[in-house]
Order: sequence, then C-alpha cells, then structure tokens
Amino acid sequence: MNPHQTDVLVIGCGIAGAAAALRLARDRQRQVTLITRTADPEESSSRYAQGGIVTLGEEDSADLIVKDILAAGAGLSLPSAARVLVEEGPGLVLEVLVESAGVSFDRAPDGRLAYGREGAHSCSRILHVGDATGRAIIQALIAALRGQSNVHIVHSATAVDLITFPHHAQNPLAVYEPITCHGAYVFEQSHRAVHTYLARATILATGGLGRIYRYTTNPEGARGDGLAMAYRAGARVINAEYVQFHPTVLAVPGGEGFLISEAVRGEGGRLLTPDGRSFMKAYAPRWGDLAPRDVVARAIHHEMVEHGYPYVLLDIYSVLSPNRIRERFPTIHARCLALGIDVTSQPIPVVPAAHYFCGGVWADEWGRTTVQNLYAVGEVACTGVHGANRLASTSLLEGLVWGNRAARDIVARRSLSAVAPDDVPCWEEEGLEEEADPALIWRDVRTIQHTMWHYVGLVRSTRRLARALRDLRHLDQDIDSFYRATRLNDALIGLRHSVQAALIVAEAAQHNRYSRGCHYRDDTKGAM
Ligand SMILES: Cc1cc2nc3c(=O)[nH]c(=O)nc-3n(C[C@H](O)[C@H](O)[C@H](O)COP(=O)(O)OP(=O)(O)OC[C@H]3O[C@@H](n4cnc5c(N)ncnc54)[C@H](O)[C@@H]3O)c2cc1C
Repeated sequence: MNPHQTDVLVIGCGIAGAAAALRLARDRQRQVTLITRTADPEESSSRYAQGGIVTLGEEDSADLIVKDILAAGAGLSLPSAARVLVEEGPGLVLEVLVESAGVSFDRAPDGRLAYGREGAHSCSRILHVGDATGRAIIQALIAALRGQSNVHIVHSATAVDLITFPHHAQNPLAVYEPITCHGAYVFEQSHRAVHTYLARATILATGGLGRIYRYTTNPEGARGDGLAMAYRAGARVINAEYVQFHPTVLAVPGGEGFLISEAVRGEGGRLLTPDGRSFMKAYAPRWGDLAPRDVVARAIHHEMVEHGYPYVLLDIYSVLSPNRIRERFPTIHARCLALGIDVTSQPIPVVPAAHYFCGGVWADEWGRTTVQNLYAVGEVACTGVHGANRLASTSLLEGLVWGNRAARDIVARRSLSAVAPDDVPCWEEEGLEEEADPALIWRDVRTIQHTMWHYVGLVRSTRRLARALRDLRHLDQDIDSFYRATRLNDALIGLRHSVQAALIVAEAAQHNRYSRGCHYRDDTKGAM
C-alpha cells in the first residue's frame, strides 16, 4: 500500500485542529489532511463546551484578563503566553468564528454582543451561544472546512504512532540528526489496517485525557492519545500533574458526566450542603461561590468526605426567574428535566469530576514542540497559559489562537522538506490473528480509571501515588504484551494510550511534592 502524502497532517478536528486547518487552507496549493478517530468529525470535547469563549468584555482590558489568568494559574502561568492569548484572541474570535465561520453568538436586545461571567473572572467577558457554545462553534468550523477543496477530512482514522526519525528511519545514521516528525501511522477503522501518512509538518490536536478518570466531563475520545504518542516520540512533556476537576457535574443516575456550567455560578448560583448550608465563604472569603474551580472542587470534596454527603446542591432557582433560567441555560434545563430535576424550582445535585488537562506536550508561542516539524495545539499542548489551574472559558480561545499560530508558522517555513516514502518502513502486522477481547479492554480501562480517581485525584498523598504507580506500571506491562499479540482496533490503541497517559500524570504528581493550583497533596508543603 502506497503511503498517503500530504503537506500538513492535522491529527484531531476539535477547535484547535480545525482552526489550524482552516488557516492552512488559504493557500490552495497546500494539501491538508485532517484525521479524526470518530465517525462524526464534530465529535470532540470542543463540541460539548457549554459556558463559552473568553474575549474582551465591555468594561475590560487585556491587562485585566491577563491578571485573572495569572491569578487562577496560581503562579505557574507563563505571562508571555497569556499575553499572546489575550492580544490575538479577541481579533480571531471575530475574524475566524464570527466573520469566516458565521458563529452567531448571543446578543443583548439592543443588538450588542452579550457577555457572560464565570468563576474567577473580574468582569463579564464570555461570548456564548446559549449553553451550547462549543456545538455552534464546531459545527461552523467543520462546515467551513468542508468547503475547502484542499482539505481532506478522514474520519474513523486513529493515529497509532507518530513517525519520527531516527526511530523509524531505515538509515542508521539518522541517529545523529535531531528527532524529526514525518507524519503518523494511522489505523483506518473501516479497512482494519494501519496506513502510513507522510507529511512535511504534523499538528497534534488530539485534546485531553479526562477519560483516564472514573468520573469526568470529557467525551469518550479524551484518553490521552496525543500525549502518549508525543511522549513515546521523545517530545518534552510538562506540568502533567495539573489535572483540573470541574466542581459541578450532575449527580443524578443517568446524568453521569453532564456538566453544569460555571456560568450558573456566574449568574448568581449558590452552592449549598444537602441540609441547606452555604459553605464557599469559609473556603474562599474573597470569592465565595465564584472562587476558582480548583478551590471550589476541593471545597465540595472536603464537605462530602467530612460529612458523608453523596453530593452538594447548586441553587439557581432562588436567584433567577424560571424564564431567565430556560433562556440562559436551555440545555442544562432540558437535560436535568429529563432526569427528573426541574432547575426552575429545585437545586441541582452536583459533584466534582476530571475536566481539563492543564499540562501536556510543551509547545512554544507558535505551537512548536521539541520534536522538529511536530506542533501541538489545544488541550494536548502545554503553552503555559493555564499554569497550575485553568481560568474558565480560556481553552477554546487557546485552541483557536494556537491552531492559527501553528498554521502561520508552517506557512512561514516554506522550506519544509518531505521525506522519501522508501525511507519509512511500512507498519508490520503480519501474523497477528488474535482479536482483542472487549471484556479485557473494558476491565483494564476501568482499572485505570479507578486507580486515577482514588489515588491521583483531587487530593493526593505520597502513599496513594506510590500505590497508583505500582498498579499502573504492572498494568502497562500487561497491556503492552496484549497489544503486541493482538490485532489492532481503536479501543486497544486507546487502552495503550490511556495507561501511558495515566503513568505520565501519576509520575509527575509523585515528583511534585508542592501543592499548587489543581495539584493538591495533603501530606506535603503548599497551601490549599
Ligand atoms: C463538557 C465540557 C465543557 C467545556 N466547556 C468549556 C467552555 O465553556 N469553554 C472553554 O473554553 N472550554 C470548555 N471546555 C474545554 C474545551 O472544550 C476543550 O479544552 C477544548 O475544546 C479542546 O479542544 P481541542 O481541539 O484541543 O480538542 P478536542 O476538541 O477534544 O478534539 C480532539 C480531536 O482529536 C481527535 N483524536 C483524539 N485522539 C485521536 C487519535 N488517536 N487519532 C485521531 N484523532 C484523534 C478527536 O476525535 C477530536 O477530533 C469544556 C470541556 C468539556 C468536556
């Protein structure tokens, strides 16, 4: 089978990958291949974003947003990266999302854009489309991409490994060259075969890893694929201990993982214990219910553990009128109602869940990683914007800005050379007859998720982390043997990536004995 050759391979079509591809497509001579492991290209974390995308509010300034990002980041956000986000982001929201893709953000009755407010933001500055902002954005971006003749979208195609020299080079002397990416091996689900995709530049935009935790807001595909592939290729990974837990996820049977947007607290929603006690002021005297999400998540966790509550309550009905609730939060209202909770007259039972990966593949201000010709953008990357804790609604903007920037950097580097197809070996799968047993995969995934939830979760300790590492290393060896002896499928690829991503997070958490932002250790230094 001949390799597939393209100028730029984009792995993942959430907001980051889609923004990159759209910018690259402007030059009709450039061929862009965009792959996604799902059958529907819109399926991604981006699609489920509710609250919105941060921009400059009416009584706002770039300095004020940067200040809020740095404050939420707990001293670990990179100021220059936050500055890039804030200085380029608002312009790109208008140019790419509103003018080019045609996203209709909500407007006030006088026609001006309506700005929402969320936790730890100093003012109203979040653009939204009801409470289904991500869906509107991703529908518009994918539709815009479908109109580009030089963008080839390949669905149901799972990247297995990045192709890097010297690792995959036929020439032994390549060992003296810097590590360079030339594309990826991609498992095409319909053919059940791995194909070679060669590219002058590769953009990793595979999103986060929430699914390595038992409770998460993330969709099924957020299993750390990109992180694990880049790590194996030798890319630098940083800040992996910082996994953000969303404080308010629906705690009703059948509603597992459904996020109750922070905008609910932004609109005045209050957190209460099941017996009606307001508790956030005791944990965050300045912010109260609008404290940064790590503080709120740990406060809820603490209340639940201390008092044995199965959940806490989020009350919006005593603050907003039923009409306003239905208008501002239509998705939340409908979903809760279907599960027996009428949010216009009842508080919502909520618990915390894994939500966002603040660490990732180190990427500079143009999305460049430490592997040549490999870019990382969006949640898989760590640009430094989010530091130890992400400020709400900044990740869609980060994906948009860095997707666009990586594309611009590739455009500027006209001399990117292509590797000769003969220099790259084909994927070897000869002789593998055994089919992957779904029961084994399911059980191993659940073991990873439980281990991460209990030992590498909201509150960590030396003992818990040691236990997690022991269990995960053992599992990693078993999964590796299973992987090498079995015919590939998407679930098996994901299992291997999940255990490796879990190890990366657990090892980073063990190394860092200092509590900061969303990495909290109850047996060492640092403040809550
Ligand atoms: C429920 C929820 C609500 C959120 N709300 C907000 C919000 O209001 N505002 C905000 O700013 N952020 C929000 N976030 C976070 C934000 O949505 C994500 O951080 C962001 O969308 C990530 O974008 P991305 O492009 O990096 O990745 P994603 O959107 O996750 O896209 C990843 C892509 O990679 C593909 N992929 C993964 N692995 C492979 C593989 N091996 N091979 C091929 N393709 C692969 C996937 O199929 C997908 O196309 C929310 C997240 C969730 C889950």
